[in-house]
Amino acid sequence: MSRWYAEIILPLPLDTTFTYAIPAEMENSVRVGYRVIVPFGRKKYYTGIVRSLTTQSPEGFETKEIAVALDNHPIVRHPQLKLWEWVAEYYMCAAGDVYKAAVPSGLKVESETFVEVNPDYEPGEDTPLDDREAMIVSLLGDEKCMAVSAIARELTVKNLPALITSMIDKGILVISEKIIERYRAVRHTVVIPEYDISGMADAFSSVKSAKKQERLLMTLTEMSGVNRRGADVKEVDRKELLDRAGVTSAVLNAVIKKGLARIEKREINRFKFDGTPTGKLPLLTQAQMKACDEITAQWRDKSTVLLHGVTSSGKTEIYSHLIDAALSRGEQVLYLVPEIALTTQLTRRLQNVFGNSVVVYHSKFSDNERVDIWKTMLAEQTPRVILGARSSLFLPFGRLGLVIVDEEHESSYKQADPAPRYNARDTALVLASMHGAKALLGSATPSVETYYKAINGKFGLVSLTTRYNELPLPPIHIVDMKRARQRGEVEGPLSLDAVRSINGAVEASKQAILFRNRRGFAPMVRCKQCAWVPKCQYCDVSLTYHNHSRQLVCHYCGAVYELPDLCPQCRQPAIEVIGYGTERVEGEIENIFPASKVLRMDLDTTRNKDGYESIIDAFSSHKADILVGTQMVTKGLDFGTVSTVVVINADELINIPDFKASERAFNMLEQVSGRAGRGDAAGSEVIIQTYTPDHPILQFVSGHSYLGFYEHEIEERKRYLYPPFTRIIYIYLKHADASVLQQFSHAYAQLLASQLGSRVSGPDQPRVTRVKSLYIQKIMIKVEAGASLAKLRQVLKDTYVKMAKNPAIKNSQVYYDVDP
Ligand code: ADP
Ligand code: ZN
Ligand code: ZN
Repeated sequence: MSRWYAEIILPLPLDTTFTYAIPAEMENSVRVGYRVIVPFGRKKYYTGIVRSLTTQSPEGFETKEIAVALDNHPIVRHPQLKLWEWVAEYYMCAAGDVYKAAVPSGLKVESETFVEVNPDYEPGEDTPLDDREAMIVSLLGDEKCMAVSAIARELTVKNLPALITSMIDKGILVISEKIIERYRAVRHTVVIPEYDISGMADAFSSVKSAKKQERLLMTLTEMSGVNRRGADVKEVDRKELLDRAGVTSAVLNAVIKKGLARIEKREINRFKFDGTPTGKLPLLTQAQMKACDEITAQWRDKSTVLLHGVTSSGKTEIYSHLIDAALSRGEQVLYLVPEIALTTQLTRRLQNVFGNSVVVYHSKFSDNERVDIWKTMLAEQTPRVILGARSSLFLPFGRLGLVIVDEEHESSYKQADPAPRYNARDTALVLASMHGAKALLGSATPSVETYYKAINGKFGLVSLTTRYNELPLPPIHIVDMKRARQRGEVEGPLSLDAVRSINGAVEASKQAILFRNRRGFAPMVRCKQCAWVPKCQYCDVSLTYHNHSRQLVCHYCGAVYELPDLCPQCRQPAIEVIGYGTERVEGEIENIFPASKVLRMDLDTTRNKDGYESIIDAFSSHKADILVGTQMVTKGLDFGTVSTVVVINADELINIPDFKASERAFNMLEQVSGRAGRGDAAGSEVIIQTYTPDHPILQFVSGHSYLGFYEHEIEERKRYLYPPFTRIIYIYLKHADASVLQQFSHAYAQLLASQLGSRVSGPDQPRVTRVKSLYIQKIMIKVEAGASLAKLRQVLKDTYVKMAKNPAIKNSQVYYDVDP
């Protein structure tokens, strides 16, 4: 009988799968897409995914055996594995990197070694324990198994992995096979009254002498509604009950003992939507209906259609109709948005129509919640619409019928770090085609590449040129900040024009949005005397001052520093902060408009899961008049009463040395303008503050002229040979030693150029030359749009292999950024 082997994908940045032997007793529980735990390296265990099975025994080395088989059904299905492979190949990263990004860690169990005390170990004379060993044995007790990392958290022992290894060698510890799945379905405890309305008096008299029990009973009565005749008695969440009553669980236990209440465990269903869906779709306007029909018609011969609809034209309403059609065909729908903030408003809009069929998925969810969604999708085939940010395209779809990529132009669809450095829009199109699903890209400002494909017939194209209700797009007012300053018409970060406009909005009970793309209090700190500027110890960037924490922060690595009272260079108390980040703008606005309520939305105010929600809710319900924020406020949000939008500094968007900078600047300015005048147009206005008022980008924004911008930009791309006329791959090289890196990267570029000629340029230093203690060099590869990517990839891989002989590679990082 032949022996079976499995090819396993491990969650490691390694380019291959690994072959393991399947022990005879596991032959029925190891299948493609199942999870297994395997030993790797000297003493490590990982959860891997079975990629394929074979009877071919690997040659030249001894294979290890799979240690544990975890599943009896696949966790990853065939189409997902295909997608992983595509991502790994196209974006030139390891399959293990894709696995890491795609699967929530709760399903990967622990990627660390678990140990327990060897059951055969007899403490005694012949194996005396030293102090450190004794500590570990007592921590593990008789039957606990712990990850090495968990032990490290409990005990401060130097060189723990080495110690553990030696204890294993001595037979004191063994690698545990009782590896615990980290995932646990979340359960909560509910309390149910054991009395009814007629028994209330008796119930209360039995706790009369115990004040706390009485208070608990009162709270329970109120919360459950036992006291309301004819109403259903509700189960009450235990924690909430205790919190509200202000008593401990001992009090509850006493009440339970008296037979007045009982507790039960409930699984939390995270798919639950508490409201009642109307089940009603919005009635489409004539123009919207026409667009909707055209999309469906074009899908007959093109799998991807671009919906180019101006801001507030009702793209979301059109999506709803298409989603409804897909759901009623029994299909799943993936609705991608570029920013988690956008899911907040959309969730509600979609749930109103589709109720529990809406599932939201993104990285702000806890790992347990993500595991829940993953498992539910594996277990069921219910048509659902998954609303999510980029990682949701890795969910285990079974019968995907429609993929919507909203705001398809957004650069945040591209993951910059870590690998896989994929573009979720492009990957979503591949996903759709793997499922034979239709795809819809939507935007008011389509990316240059997408629009180029649409007008050249690769994608379908449907345009919607009027706003819902025929509302006009808001007028744009460009403010020349140099002139404003000369005339003394500037107050803090704002021109007097902006102040006037915000004032007008507030007085008319409207709202204003202020956009400043720098978080923190002041982007620059400097000594007035000697021009000293604090820099990050690990990165080549100056630090941003955050006032609420009174600290200097590196926005590249997160390092924090104290703001010194005296300049460390000249010893003078001459340190000043310069410029306006969102935190400072917020403060200034509060001073200028003391009667108005101001909210701020940026990375610092949205760190926890509900951060976005509470800010967006408060602003939607007009609990605040002015919203200050970074690019988060520019995208897709729909507030009916915003009449003024102020772009505090347009120049920071325009003056970036990157071939996509103009496109990004135009998109951002046009999108943020689109937040104004959505409910009604009266008095709505966009103020753009700039030192370069004649810049062509600003002219296009002024005229809301997407086509003007596109034609200008596509000419530039053609002239300078940028995408869509070429394809670009950056190779990043990083090393802690600047001169080693210098040599290494030059040799690298030279070797590439010997095969690719003038398609190679660089190495160049990126704008920030050092991050997290590593120096960076970048080589650009630019190939003809029609060139064979497979060949190019082979050249790149061969070059890497050749360069691997260079000793500098040992401590270097080399990675690719495809379609940057
Ligand atoms: P877009 O996604 O194109 O920016 P939205 O779909 O957010 O536009 O629509 C803008 C606003 O107009 C929303 O508040 C939306 O509810 C409203 N709206 C659009 N179309 C309709 C319609 N057919 N019926 C009712 N309201 C609509
Ligand atoms: Zn100084
Ligand atoms: Zn730093």
